[in-house]
Order: sequence, then structure tokens, then C-alpha cells
Amino acid sequence: MSYPRIILRKGREAPLRHGHPWVFSGAVATVEGDPAPGDIVLAMDSIGRGLGLGFFNTGDIAFRLLTTDSASRIDADFWRRRIDQAIALRKKVVPPETDAYRLINAEGDGMPGLVVDRYGSFLVFSIGTAGIEKWREILIGHLSAAVGSVGIYERSEGRSRQLEGLPNRIGSAAGEVPATAEIVENGLRFEVDLMTGQKTGFFLDQRGNREIIGALSRGATVLNAFSYTGAFSVYAARGGAKRVVSVDASAAANEIASGNLVRNGFSPERHPILTANCFEYLRETEEVFDLIILDPPAFAKSRKDVERSAKGYKEINLQAARRLCEGGILATFSCSNPVSVELFEKIVLGAIQDAGKTAQLLRPLGAGPDHPVNLAHPEGLYLKGLLLCLTAK
Ligand code: SAH
Repeated sequence: MSYPRIILRKGREAPLRHGHPWVFSGAVATVEGDPAPGDIVLAMDSIGRGLGLGFFNTGDIAFRLLTTDSASRIDADFWRRRIDQAIALRKKVVPPETDAYRLINAEGDGMPGLVVDRYGSFLVFSIGTAGIEKWREILIGHLSAAVGSVGIYERSEGRSRQLEGLPNRIGSAAGEVPATAEIVENGLRFEVDLMTGQKTGFFLDQRGNREIIGALSRGATVLNAFSYTGAFSVYAARGGAKRVVSVDASAAANEIASGNLVRNGFSPERHPILTANCFEYLRETEEVFDLIILDPPAFAKSRKDVERSAKGYKEINLQAARRLCEGGILATFSCSNPVSVELFEKIVLGAIQDAGKTAQLLRPLGAGPDHPVNLAHPEGLYLKGLLLCLTAK
């Protein structure tokens, strides 16, 4: 059986040839064989050379590459191999005393639209493409067998699904899944809200950055702004911080944060957790900190939000720069996909200069190696951060 085909316009095959896994609808000349959204198709250049097999869809992204081997087949075995590869990588990169990590990172693991996070004996996954949707049962079966998981929970929701023409699906997909689970990360314990927490429950992408913050916290007063369930705060406390102030607008997240301090032997009296808007808190507080972490939610979800988001990033970075002591450290992040590293650096630099300070870049920050990105697919690099030391001009 041969696959339906999409034939690209002349010259439009270059990105695919260079490894970029998407073909936009404008690059497609003809579609042969009447594929349905999510079906496997063979992409060909204008003179009939095969470029690879991937998912077809009728939206903006017409094709998502699975393999450049045009003669291969996409079957249950193909998915088993991809999952096994993803697991083999995690065996190499996940640190000891850690049972929570990203197991499958969509395009970064050659599975466009599939995100799977492991939380101890549970898996939480989300499907964002019509293509993966068709392999759902097979993927759940492989995952369950490969990991030996006790329960699998699905949180397939959001904008990407709408764009692919898929309804939301949320609920248990296999076995029993509790509302919350306790995980271990670098020897620290955290409660994770598997069903209603943000993302799939925990910001696994920040694991390595939390370690860096922990190592910089000895004797410091630390502000963790946008603290969610307090993960950075717990690392700072373990690193010997004198005082860690956590600020988040969500009372529910703060309650878990408080429990997370306690379960690791730290006191919420000494390390206060405040329910507040960080914009207001940063403007109004008179406290001066040695170290500030700014990890806000994505201010820009799409390109049209970029300008407005820049104002938000500028404001919090300006206020944070003012609240830092001389030689203080700022760890500042953006997880907005449409905000590039270059733009983020520009915004942060502008904010620091407006605060009358100058910054040394200690290191760029990003997601950890359990969030691999296809090097040919820069769209996969959503989390960017800067570790800075700020001094007077
Ligand atoms: N640093 C965290 C993740 C932060 S996620 C970690 O490593 O776990 C972003 C957080 O910002 C969410 O918890 C959300 O409740 C909070 N938030 C969003 N807007 C806010 C605002 N204006 N003020 C305070 N918190 C806000």
C-alpha cells in the first residue's frame, strides 16, 4: 500500500531538506490521494523526489515530518522504536534521586504533538496533533509497557488542539491515577497536582536551573517571583538561603508550595509565601534581595502578543533590578514561544539600564536535557533565561 502524497512547490523543499520538520500550507502545490487530517503522507519535491513521511493536516502546518526515509512504513513498530529511543536518552540524562522528568518532548523526540511527563509511577500526557491522535491507543500501550506505569492520565487541551481540529480530552487513560502525587527531584520532595496543576503539574523544564539557584543561595535573601508550587524556593532553602520570599497570585499553588517547604524540612515562617500580583509586589516592596528569580507565565502566546508582552517583561525586570543589592543575582526567564532569545536579551538589558545598572551574563539558561530540541527546529526552544550579576553603572 502506498501513502497519499503532497507535492511541494518548486524550491520550497529546502527547509525540510535541512531537517526542519514542518511544511506550511503555502509551500504545498498539490495533494494526491485525498488524505484525512492526521493521515501519513509522503512529501515530494516538485520533480518527484521523496522527502519523507509525516502527518498531513489541512491547517497552517500541512505536514509534520516523522522520517526522511520515504521507503519506510509508519506502524506500531515505528512508534515502539521512537519511544524506546526517548527512554534510552532519559536513562543517560536524568540525574540520580529524580523520578519526575519529561519522557517525550514532541518534535524534539521525533513525535510531533506528543508530550509525556513521568511523575514517579504515573504518566501524564498531552496530544496536540491529529496525527498522534490516530496512534493514541498504540502509544498508550507501548508507554505503559515500557515504563511499567501504574496509571496514565491524559490532559489533551488547549490552542494547538483547536488548530488541529481536535476537541479536548481529559481523564484517566489507563489504570488509576490519584489527584496528586509526591515526586523526588534531586533528592527533594514535591507534591504535584496531576489533574489540575499547570502544564502537566510541575515545571520539569526548570530542574537544572533550580540546582543552579540552590548553589548560589548560601546566606542569601532570595525572592522567588511567580513561584507556583515553590520549587525554586525549596532549592534555595536547601542551598542555605537566609530567607526566601515566594510570591504567586495563585492561593492553591501557594498552599502546595507551603507543603513542599515543610516536607523538605523548611519552615514557611522563616520563608514566607505571599499570595499577590508580582507586578504590584515588586513595585511596592521595600526589601532588597541578594538573588531574584523571575519565572512568569508566557506573556505572549502568539506573534500578535509580542509587543504587549515586551512591556510586561520590561516592567518586572526593571522592578527586580531595583530590588537587587549591589552585585546581586537575577535569574530571569521567558517561556513565550514567539519571544526570541535576542528580543528577550534586549528587553532585559533595557530594563537593567533603566534601573541605572549594568549586567554581567553569568550563563544563558534553558530547559534541561530531558527536553531535547531538534536542532533544525528552533521553534522547539521555548524556555530562555539569563543568569545575571547586576552592579551599579
Ligand atoms: N517557577 C515556577 C513556575 C512558574 S509558572 C516553578 O519552577 O515551578 C508561573 C506562575 O505565575 C504560576 O504559578 C501563576 O499562578 C503565576 N502568575 C501568573 N501571573 C501572575 C501575577 N501577575 N502575579 C503573580 N503570579 C502570577
